[in-house]
This record gives sequence, structure tokens and C-alpha cells, in this order.
Amino acid sequence: MSSVLDITLAPFGRKKIEWVKSYMPVLEIIGSDFCKKKPFEGLKVAMSIHLEAKTAYLAEILRDGGAEVYITGCNPLSTQDDVAAALAAEGLNVFARHGVGEDEYKEHLKAVLDCSPHLLIDDGGDLVQLLHGECANKTSNLIGGCEETTTGVHRLFARMRAGLLHFPMVDVNNADCKYLFDNRYGTGQSTIDGIMNTTNLMIAGKTVVIAGYGWCGRGLAMRMKGMGALVIVTEIDPVKAIEAAMDGFRVMKMDDAAPLGDFFVTLTGCCDVIVGRHFDMMKDGAVLANSGHFDVEINKRELEARSVKIFDRRNNIRGYRQKDGRTLNLLADGRLVNLAAANGHPAEIMDMSFALQAKSLEWLVQNKGRLENRIYPVPAEIDRYVAELKLKAIGCSIDSLTVQQKEYLEKVD
Ligand code: NAD
Ligand code: SAH
Repeated sequence: MSSVLDITLAPFGRKKIEWVKSYMPVLEIIGSDFCKKKPFEGLKVAMSIHLEAKTAYLAEILRDGGAEVYITGCNPLSTQDDVAAALAAEGLNVFARHGVGEDEYKEHLKAVLDCSPHLLIDDGGDLVQLLHGECANKTSNLIGGCEETTTGVHRLFARMRAGLLHFPMVDVNNADCKYLFDNRYGTGQSTIDGIMNTTNLMIAGKTVVIAGYGWCGRGLAMRMKGMGALVIVTEIDPVKAIEAAMDGFRVMKMDDAAPLGDFFVTLTGCCDVIVGRHFDMMKDGAVLANSGHFDVEINKRELEARSVKIFDRRNNIRGYRQKDGRTLNLLADGRLVNLAAANGHPAEIMDMSFALQAKSLEWLVQNKGRLENRIYPVPAEIDRYVAELKLKAIGCSIDSLTVQQKEYLEKVD
């Protein structure tokens, strides 16, 4: 059973899925293995993750491995209706539509949990939250789940520390083959993609203020610098701030950066990074975007409150006319600009992130009944397996230690 916008869009979505498949060789290998072994036979998998082509390929691989898949998005604006239709046409259970309101978004999450899943893929923690509250009666079959992103993992750790995590979860985000590539190079490229897609403006020679110098922020700073931007970083962590300074960026408070920026991008996972007093100081025409978790990094309420006119300027660009005549431009309603206004990370990146997801789900099944209600890291052998397959796929070979070298490295004195 499915609920999608328009099933006749399926052929367009199918083309997108077939395109990304050609660039996801690691997932392809895992998929053919699953096809033979059927590790998920008789199991139901609930997924809440950005519903676009690469995610669809992951869902199909799980289906090929025997799973009954129930899928929705993890953000109201990132669902691509043609991709959702293509999955529904294949018989997967899809509950998703681009641009859903808060109520429908939640109804879709509840709809995928209605099957009482055995396994979860969560991105941001919305499924986990429902399974500990309103949908607590849907956990009877649950073996465990996997969390995709930084903020979702923070929420899981807070829950575990409070003694309120009721099933095992795997922290996919902190696997080497995830954050080092997805958060850094994936976000670095796709955030620029989202900004260029929407604004069609020049980056070279512009001042770009980047809030947060974590994995995502440093990826974006690196790529913006490469495109000729003058990059300013704001941080709250002194170590990250030193790192940004030594990487060659100007580091200052948002209060000082606000009047200087042409573009502002938040990637912190925190709230109220850009607030009223910052809007008051910004240049006419400044562009504001978020590529962190929720739409709370840029305080939209305070932006609205000081605007005399709010108007749609282009697809995914809303103008906020200030009392003094300046107009500030908010992209994608302050939601993840790389997914709401572009296609998210490239296929080659999601190849690794989703290979980790697929193998971690298989690991959960293999360890059913032996796991505690806590957060597990992705097993090191899975991380290494994914790295080795990817390395081969990109055509690199590396040296291996000789017996003498191993002995040398392990020598005590
Ligand atoms: P991270 O923890 O590595 O980095 C976050 C950084 O923000 C830290 O250095 C922190 O000190 C800094 N920070 C926190 N509050 C701040 C504030 N008020 N002002 C300035 N800096 C502040 O996390 P990450 O992996 O870089 O992820 C950042 C966010 O992006 C998370 O919410 C994550 O879920 C999300 N994310 C988005 C994408 C995407 O596709 N757009 C991909 C991965 C992660
Ligand atoms: N629920 C949050 C989601 C955080 S998004 C929200 O409100 O929007 C951050 C995650 O999106 C990253 O960890 C990354 O792995 C994932 N992502 C990035 N590009 C993607 C893509 N093309 N397809 C699916 N997921 C993607």
C-alpha cells in the first residue's frame, strides 16, 4: 500500500534511479550478495530518510534481500515525487509527498511504523522518537535500527544517557566511511549545488559566512574557497576555531560577520545561530541558507517579525523586505538547502553511506537477541569492507605491510 502524489510520475523517477545506480558500485556488490543470501527474508524495514534516487536504490536493495520495505522522507521538502512514485510502482510501501505540512509529515512517519517493523533506518531520529512515545506499541518485532546523521546521533546519546533508549541502534554517522566523506565532501559540494541552483549568482569574490566548522562546515569552507569566495567562519568551539584559522579562514563572532557576508550558511545542528540583531546588520541582498539539521539555525520567526513584506522571488527563494528597504533572501525556507533545493549528496558519496546502512542492518539481524538497548558503532570490519570496495571501485590500489614492517611497528623496545 502506498500514498504518493502521482503514480504516473514513476517513469521519470525510474530514470533517476537507473542513473544513480551506475555510480554506486559498492551498493551494487552488496545488492547482488543480498539477492543471493536474502538476509532480510520475512523482515519488515521502516525507513525515514531523504526520499530521492540514491535512497530509492538502497530501498530496492533491501527489498531484493527479502525485506518488506516501508518508506517515507525525513524532511518535508526533500521528497522527490517522481522517485516516490517509481518505488510505489515497484510495490514498495511508500508514504511521502514533497511539501507536506507538519501533520501529514507525522502521519507518514506513523504509517511506516504501522507495520511493526523489525528494522529501522532513521535520519534525524523522528522514527525513534515516535517509537518511544505515540507509537511505542509498534516495537514488538523490533531488532534495532541505524541512524544516519550527526543530530540524530546526538538525540540518541541524550536518550541513552537518560536511560530512555528501548532498543539497539547503530551510529552510522560516526563510521569513517560516513562522516569523512558524506559530511565533508558530500555537504561541501551539494550545499553549493543548492545555492547555485536557487540563486544562479556568482560565488567568486563574494564573502561567504559559514557557521560551524565541524565536518560539514569544513567541507563547505574548503569548496567555497576553491570557487574563489572569501570565507569567514564562526564557531563556539575554540579548537575548531583555531583549526579554521590555520586552514586560512577568518574567524570571528556572528555579530562581527553579519555586516560583511554576501552569503550565510549554517551547519551547526544548533538553534538561533543567526537571529534578529544579525538580520538588522546584514547587507541588502544577503542570501541566507541552512545546511545543518532543522530549520531552527536561522531564526525565521525573528526574520518574519522585522519584515514589512515577505514575497516569493524565485523557486526556493523568499524575500524579506526590512523597514529600511533592505531585502534579505532565505533559501529553501531555512531547511537543508542541499536536499530541499538540490539532489543532496552525489551518488558516489551515498554509495558509501548507504553501503554502511545496508551492512549494519544485516549485522543487526545476525546479532538478533544478543544486543543491549544501547548505541553501537558500525563494526570496524564493515567500515573497512566498505573502504576496500570503494577504493577498488575508484581504481586505486595501496600497499600492504610486510611481515617485517608489522614486526617493526609492534616492537616494544
Ligand atoms: P559537527 O558536530 O562535526 O559540527 C558542528 C559544528 O558546529 C561544531 O564544530 C560546533 O562547535 C559548531 N557549532 C555548534 N553550535 C554553534 C553555534 N551556535 N555557532 C557556531 N558554531 C556552532 O557536525 P557535522 O557532522 O558537521 O553536522 C552539522 C549539522 O549538519 C548536523 O545537524 C548534521 O545532522 C547536519 N548534516 C547535514 C548534512 C546535509 O546533507 N546537509 C549532512 C551531514 C550532516
Ligand atoms: N531529518 C533531518 C535530516 C538531516 S539530513 C532534516 O530535518 O532534514 C543530513 C543527512 O542527509 C546526512 O547525514 C546525509 O547522509 C543525508 N543525505 C545527504 N544527501 C543525501 C541524499 N542524496 N540522499 C539521501 N540522504 C542524503
